[in-house]
Amino acid sequence: MRLFDPHIHMTSRTTDDYQAMASAGIAAIVEPAFWVGQPRTHVGTFEDYFLSLLGWERFRALQFGIRHFATLALNPKEANNTELADGVLAMMPRYLEKDGVVAVGEIGYDDQTDAEDRYFRRQIELAREHALPVLIHTPHRDKVRGTERTLAVIREMGFPPELTLVDHNNEETLPLTLAAGCWAGHSIYPFTKMDEARMVTLVRRYGTERIIVNSAADWGVSDPLKVPKTAAAMRDAGVSEADIELVFWKNPVRFFAQSGRLDLEDAPKVDQRQLFEGNSVLRGQQPRVDS
Ligand SMILES: [Zn+2]
Repeated sequence: MRLFDPHIHMTSRTTDDYQAMASAGIAAIVEPAFWVGQPRTHVGTFEDYFLSLLGWERFRALQFGIRHFATLALNPKEANNTELADGVLAMMPRYLEKDGVVAVGEIGYDDQTDAEDRYFRRQIELAREHALPVLIHTPHRDKVRGTERTLAVIREMGFPPELTLVDHNNEETLPLTLAAGCWAGHSIYPFTKMDEARMVTLVRRYGTERIIVNSAADWGVSDPLKVPKTAAAMRDAGVSEADIELVFWKNPVRFFAQSGRLDLEDAPKVDQRQLFEGNSVLRGQQPRVDS
């Protein structure tokens, strides 16, 4: 079965990860633009980051047979530097037009400040102008209140819930997200937050409609194989193959296909002789070339 990891920050990961993900059945991923661990000080740094998500990172994924799509945004944390935030928003329309951009995200709340609220709303407007879905980060602190505020903003602005993926849900927030008509993402982390067993319980209780699972792997303690591991846990627990296929392939495909840019035709053929602007992922190794 083909698997989809619809939220993973591959910029922070290695080629070993790509290799292991492809071997475990991951055929497509979405990489949302995010916080890089320390505050950026120039709009140009965002621009180069967007370009790398759409250029080098997509190339790198394809070198291991994985299709790579991106969502672009000013992340919630950096919305609090308003001078920088204004510069990033001014640049975004140009990038939202590009191939491989399947949503505006991650947007939403971190500390739930006024500035975060302002740039969250402005980016929902950008999504509307560009006919794109939104991928929404929910805060780690005060999550229920942050999720309620998020859903209230979507409702107030009249943004279509079917174009809204609310991410990082847990037992407390999932019923709110589903009742609002939005898609519900779940990030499976090692040791904390949502894990495989809790995800199995949620699917048993709420079914599979609009349910999505991701690894949210990044530069922190995380695991890029959480999607195949959670699929395996569901299979072990007796969840049907049809339901597993919905959660781990068809649901993310349906959601992001609403962008009109989720090209999944013809499995990519790996040719590691290829270069991106003169650069290879290899370091003198024998290139893999699929016939
Ligand atoms: Zn993320």
